[in-house]
Amino acid sequence: MQKGNISVQTENIFPIIKKFLYSDQEIFLRELVSNAVDATNKLKTLASKGEFKGELGDLTIEIVADKENSTLTIRDKGIGMTEEETKKYLNQVAFSSASEFLEKYKDEASIIGHFGLGFYSAFMVADKVEAVTRSYKDGSQGVTWACEGDPEYTLEDNDKTARGTDIVLHINEEGKDYLEDQKLQELLDKYCKFLPVPIKFGTKTETIYEGEGDDKEEKKLEVDNIINNPNPAWRKTPSELTDEDYLSFYNELYPFSSPPMFWIHLNIDFPFNLTGILYFPKVGANAFEMQKNKIQLYSNQVYVTDDVKDIVPEFLTLLHGVIDSPDIPLNVSRSYLQSDGNVKKITGYITKKVADKLNDLYKKDRENYEQKWSDLSVFVKYGMISDEKFYDKATKFALLKNIDNEHFTIEEYKEKIKAAQTDKNNKLVVLYTNNPAEHDGFIQACKNRSYDVLLLDHVIDNHFMQHLEYKLGDVTFVRVDSDTVDNLVQKDETQESVLSEDDQNKVKGVFEGLVASAGSTVVMKALSPEDQPVVITRPEFMRRMKEMQALQGMAMGEFPDAVNVIVNSNHPIVSEKVLGESDENAQKENAKYLYNLALLNQNMLKGADLTAFINKSLDFLK
Ligand code: ADP
Repeated sequence: MQKGNISVQTENIFPIIKKFLYSDQEIFLRELVSNAVDATNKLKTLASKGEFKGELGDLTIEIVADKENSTLTIRDKGIGMTEEETKKYLNQVAFSSASEFLEKYKDEASIIGHFGLGFYSAFMVADKVEAVTRSYKDGSQGVTWACEGDPEYTLEDNDKTARGTDIVLHINEEGKDYLEDQKLQELLDKYCKFLPVPIKFGTKTETIYEGEGDDKEEKKLEVDNIINNPNPAWRKTPSELTDEDYLSFYNELYPFSSPPMFWIHLNIDFPFNLTGILYFPKVGANAFEMQKNKIQLYSNQVYVTDDVKDIVPEFLTLLHGVIDSPDIPLNVSRSYLQSDGNVKKITGYITKKVADKLNDLYKKDRENYEQKWSDLSVFVKYGMISDEKFYDKATKFALLKNIDNEHFTIEEYKEKIKAAQTDKNNKLVVLYTNNPAEHDGFIQACKNRSYDVLLLDHVIDNHFMQHLEYKLGDVTFVRVDSDTVDNLVQKDETQESVLSEDDQNKVKGVFEGLVASAGSTVVMKALSPEDQPVVITRPEFMRRMKEMQALQGMAMGEFPDAVNVIVNSNHPIVSEKVLGESDENAQKENAKYLYNLALLNQNMLKGADLTAFINKSLDFLK
């Protein structure tokens, strides 16, 4: 038996391994299984080049937990190691790369889980690690390397007859969990699900049926429990795959999820390597809450992370699926990742692919696309707001939907409303509602004037409108309750008032006595006698500022809930029941009734005021 020190130059890294990596312990399994996969693939490569002439045989990797002896074994039938190689790879290569890694990242525990520190991660969960190995080379002598978590190691011959390596972990007290079937199954599912070599973990019972009809017999069969799919859909070419294949792969990624709307198969090898499938989920109105099926990032089928926000643009994180790229640098810090040229190119490529796909769908079958629009719109709008390049492409397929459920592209819509909804400054006025039921009165008034009203009712729409106003320049969005219909699309049309200026001031005075909230104003307006006697509007700008603030969770103190009280000086009730009423008290009461009626119309009459209003209305009927 040989004894030795792993390295005299390097400090003892074992305490550091244990201490710093506590939170990401579980990656040890991925590291060791990936090594087994690498060793297997190396042998396959040698065989394909004719450098290994023996029988490859069954190359399945095995994971074996032995609770009695507290060992966990990762067994491969790959290239194995000779004595010299064991010393070189485990004592030098693995050890020095592990210490270099720790030196660099010991303060960044959070990123460690995204990539491993290789073979030595085993010491996070094991007191002792053995590598029982035999090289593929003819006439090799098997050797066993062992180390107990200090720089000393031993090396001795063994009588292993099979080619390959067993990594045997003597699991420590804190690592006990890693001997439990359920825990191991969970970790293998997470990290090894798509590794390219079959991985066996114990057996499972399968039920089969033999015979026909009455003779049909149920049989239980013990079969190997292969935990991975070595040939996942994203590594195949799109022409090999049917829609069912894509859907069943989605199911494999996210069991029990409702099926996606459609998908994009990514496949590129220049100027970087990237494969993957991105799925568009059905999101509807809840797009911001449903992030549970995250995009998974792989590097050559090895799971890296499901936290991809530095690699794909944020709006694309609403998608589901898989990205696999060995070219995404995994062993660098976050800030570096964001400025990395390759990552930028990948981001740009994915964005372009997604935009092209949407454009295709739109062009191929607009009707179908319109049906999907409610599920797509948040995603597209988010993309347009946050990504300049995506915006440019999306103007072709982004749709606006009006309250009659008709869809228009931005250009089509501008054309549609041009004649009726251009104001005196030549700006197009886009009218919208976020709540058709609440704004019904305003919407009817718009329709009477042949104005069109859009439905923009998602939280993202505030930002989207603002962005369109900024990008288009000649368009302004106005909510239907922002002003009287007359003023929504301001043109130079003045109406005659039937009341003299003096009388108007009198009426105005009465209403001003009622309106309590700060910043509110009373305005006399010569509307049509058919319009409402009093209309309450909310200034567009103020309201939007408040909504934005609320969205960002900021205090709303700075913007009072100011309203405009517009009194229709041409309405007969105003001239008869307010101006014409000689009793001052009755005058006030009537004005208040009209004011409350307008508040009610805006859903702003609440509490005791509402009760008083209802009682007053009942009095009229008595
Ligand atoms: P990496 O895999 O990144 O090279 P590791 O620390 O995981 O670093 O492993 C160091 C080296 O040890 C590997 O490059 C490989 O040569 C050797 N090795 C590790 N595990 C095995 C194995 N199961 N079979 C053969 N060689 C192995």
